[in-house]
Amino acid sequence: MGNNLVADRNQGAIPVPATLTSKHDSAGWRKVPTSSTPINQDRVQELLVQEWARFEETTKASGVHNKKAMKALPMGVTSSFQHWDPYPISIVSGKGAYLTDVDGRKLLDLSMGFGAMLVGHLHPKIIKRVKKALRSTGTLFVTPSPDATDVAERFKARFGLDMLRFTNSGTESTMYAIRTARAVKQKNGVIKIEGGYHGGYDPLQVSVKPDLKDIGSPDYPTAHVPPEVEAGDVYVVPYNNLERLEEIMKDHGHNIACFMIEPVIENLSIILPDAGYLQSVRDLCDEYGICLIFDEVKTGLTAGVAGAAARLGVKPDLITLAKSIGGGFPLAAFGGKLEYMEAVVDGRMAHFGTYNGNPLVMAAALAVDEICTPAALAKAEAINNATLAKLDEIINEFELPAHTVGLGVKGAMIWSPNPVRNYRDYKATDFETAELSWLWGINRGVLTPPGLDEQWLVSLAHNQKDMDKMVESTRQLAVALRA
Ligand code: PLP
Repeated sequence: MGNNLVADRNQGAIPVPATLTSKHDSAGWRKVPTSSTPINQDRVQELLVQEWARFEETTKASGVHNKKAMKALPMGVTSSFQHWDPYPISIVSGKGAYLTDVDGRKLLDLSMGFGAMLVGHLHPKIIKRVKKALRSTGTLFVTPSPDATDVAERFKARFGLDMLRFTNSGTESTMYAIRTARAVKQKNGVIKIEGGYHGGYDPLQVSVKPDLKDIGSPDYPTAHVPPEVEAGDVYVVPYNNLERLEEIMKDHGHNIACFMIEPVIENLSIILPDAGYLQSVRDLCDEYGICLIFDEVKTGLTAGVAGAAARLGVKPDLITLAKSIGGGFPLAAFGGKLEYMEAVVDGRMAHFGTYNGNPLVMAAALAVDEICTPAALAKAEAINNATLAKLDEIINEFELPAHTVGLGVKGAMIWSPNPVRNYRDYKATDFETAELSWLWGINRGVLTPPGLDEQWLVSLAHNQKDMDKMVESTRQLAVALRA
C-alpha cells in the first residue's frame, strides 16, 4: 500500500494510509492542513481545569436549576442528549441567533436545536402563521385538512418524492421507513452504518457509538447490541467501505429489507462520502434488491433547498425528514417512491399517529417552506463557507492538528490532521481538545451542541459578525494552546 506523508515538526513525517486520502464528494467542504504540530496535552488539561472553574463560577443559576430539575426529571433534562456534567446551561428564551440563560447571559446559539432551528428562533413568519392558526384554525381535528395537503404537496415537489406521510419525530420516521421497506420486501434484515445514530427504534440502536473493545476489526465490525434492545437481524458496515457492504449483501441479501444511512453523517461531527460512494451504494442496493433509505433528519434543508439526496445527486427509495422542516415544531416525515409508499396506501404497512399533520405544525411548516428559498439558503451557506475559511487560516497559522468540514449551512472543526471517513477514524480524533474547544466557546458566549460529535448550524438569522465571534474565540483558544 502506498503511503502519503504528512509533515510533523516534532515527530518527523507521519505515514498516512492511502485510504485516508480518498477524495470526498465535491458537494461538501473539507480542508486538511498540509502540516501540523501536536498539541501539548498537559496544556489541554491545565486549560480544562481553568475553564471548568470559570464555567461553574459564571453559570451558578444553571447549577441551582439543574439540582431542582433532577428531582422531577431524570438527569434534570427532557432528553438525555441535553445533559452534560456537572450540569447543562438552562435557557429561558431565544430570539434570532441568540439565547438567554437563567444567569441572564446572552449566548450565540450555534447548536440551534441540533439543527432544527434553521430559520432562527421566533422567526416573524413562523409566529404570524402559527398565531393565525391559533386564532382561527384550531389545534387538532384528526381529519384530513387542506393545510396538511398543501404542505405535503410542497414537500413532495421540493424533495422529489412520489408520496409522504407526516410524523412527529425523527424516531417515528426512521421506524416507519424501515417497516415500509420490510412490508414491501417481505424480509426483516437491516443494514446500518457503524457509529450511526437514527433515533430510538430498536434495530437502529445497534452499534450507535460502541466501545472499540466490543466491535472487532475496522473492516469487519461486530454488531454491538445493547442488552435492553430487541434488534432483530442488523448488519453493521463501516461508512465509505463498499467491499464490506457488498460482502454483507452477497451473504445475507436474501434476508435484508433495507440499508439505512445518513448520506452525509452528521452524528459523528460531519463525515463526507468519498467521491462516488453513494452512487455505488445505490447500484449495490439495486443489484441485490435492497431498499435504500436516506435518513435526512439532520441534513434535510440544512444540506440544500432539496436536501442532501438532491445535492449529492443520488436518489434513495425512501427518505426520512425532521428537524429543519418544522421551524422548531415537532414535525417529521417519511416518503419516497410509489412502489414503497403503496404499502401504506394498501395497508401492508399501517401508519398511524394522533398528532400527525396537526394544524399548528402545518402552519409552521408552510412558513418554513416560504422562508427557505434558494437565495436565503445560499446566503447562509456563503457565511458558513467564509467561516470555515477563516478557521482554516487559524489552523494553518497555529499549525493546529485539526481540519474543517462542512455541508450546506453546517460546519465543524475536527481535532485531527487527517480526514475522518468512518467511525474508527472519528474515534481516533482528539476528544480532550474537542471538549476544551467546546467549553472555551461556552465561557465566551458561544454555545455549540453538547455532544462532541455534533456540528454548528448557520441559521437564516446568523450574520457574518455572529460567526466571527466563534472565529475569534477559536483564535484565542489557539493562542492559549500554543502559549
Ligand atoms: N435520525 C437522525 C440522523 C438523527 O440525528 C436523529 C436525532 O437527532 C433522529 C433520527 C431521531 O430524531 P428525533 O430526535 O426527532 O426522534
